[in-house]
Amino acid sequence: MSQFWSPFVKDLVPYVPGEQPKMTRLVKLNTNENPYGPSPQAIAAMQAEVNDDLRLYPDPNGDRLKQAVARYYGVEANQVFVGNGSDEVLAHAFHALFQHGKPLLFPDITYSFYPVYCGLYGIEPKPIPLDENFQINIADYFRANAGENGGIIFPNPNAPTGCLLPLAAVEQLLKQNTDTVVLVDEAYVDFGGESAIALVNQYPNLLVTQTLSKSRSLAGLRVGIAVGHPDLIEALERIKNSFNSYPLDRMAIAGAAAAFDDREYFNDTCARVINSREAVVAGLEQLGFDVLPSAANFVFARHADKDAAQLAQALREQGIIVRHFKTPRIAQFLRITIGTDEQNQILLDALKAL
Ligand code: PMP
Repeated sequence: MSQFWSPFVKDLVPYVPGEQPKMTRLVKLNTNENPYGPSPQAIAAMQAEVNDDLRLYPDPNGDRLKQAVARYYGVEANQVFVGNGSDEVLAHAFHALFQHGKPLLFPDITYSFYPVYCGLYGIEPKPIPLDENFQINIADYFRANAGENGGIIFPNPNAPTGCLLPLAAVEQLLKQNTDTVVLVDEAYVDFGGESAIALVNQYPNLLVTQTLSKSRSLAGLRVGIAVGHPDLIEALERIKNSFNSYPLDRMAIAGAAAAFDDREYFNDTCARVINSREAVVAGLEQLGFDVLPSAANFVFARHADKDAAQLAQALREQGIIVRHFKTPRIAQFLRITIGTDEQNQILLDALKAL
């Protein structure tokens, strides 16, 4: 801190990114990356962009990617926004759609960037407790009513629990909150959820964000999307064009579009992760873990009598990195990303030995 910082920055509590260790040969199961590489067609599309045209700016609108997303989901290209990772898309959505001084409702245990963006944009955070089974109870959101231009945001599946809110419940929540923007953060939806993008034409207050970091295995490329009513998308475009008119470079636009077009590779790798998840859940349960039902590419598990922080540390000493949160209500849990079957077995063997 120094005298040159503005008072606003002095008060800002930033997000702490998950650890990205520099050592190689780790079993890295801490930040929910995909163990399988990106689509070969996406890699080829990016390689094709590495040429003399890099001296030219990219398409500021990323139209090629918007069209690929629109084709994939059966919406119009003007219902799609693209940005530099869904973190940036979310930041623009907070800025454009949630209002200064108004409440934003989100689960008390959820993606920890939400309160950070509230701090950045002066929005009032209003955490709503998960129920005793760590589930979102939509009735709590009716009662807390964001109304009067407050908003609602939640990941579906939720993070770090992995628990899914069925699409019918999402729709019920939308019906009860028609004067409120409802943002569904679907970072993990492709591992067992049903996308609320199916509802965007019925609910002009619904915005759905997704990332290419997980199911499309492009975390290193930094691409996220939002889909919603053209008026919501236009608000995001206004913010974007006041901030960074070229959020996506030429490689990102081409690679992300090709990843959406390669459905076969996408379906195949998602199915592999889902199958492995079921095996990891069974293995953990055999070792005495209680595992929350997961529709994501990670599981959230606690052991009946082993301390989670100590387990995480003991695994780390063997080069296996998982995520542990110090938040009191979830301090007994480990969040474990689903890896390759070989990585998952290394993890289960190490836990067994502990
Ligand atoms: N939303 C949730 C719920 C997440 O867990 C993550 C990943 N940390 C993101 C959004 C952001 O993903 P990215 O910026 O890589 O698109």
